[in-house]
Amino acid sequence: MAFNRDFGDRPRRNFPPREMIKGNWKCSECAKEITELPFEPAPDRPIYCRDCWAAKRTDRFQR
Ligand SMILES: [Zn+2]
Repeated sequence: MAFNRDFGDRPRRNFPPREMIKGNWKCSECAKEITELPFEPAPDRPIYCRDCWAAKRTDRFQR
């Protein structure tokens, strides 16, 4: 059988390590201090802390 030849050793994707960006922001929702973000925040966009992100995501998800 020729199929699945590389089932057991497909190349691993090399994701770069998650880079946390350090800074000093405030959550637009709950005003909590944020000291690091997993992405570069856009200056003209609200920044949310983890909790609010999670809440928002769930929000959307449930809609
Ligand atoms: Zn928040």
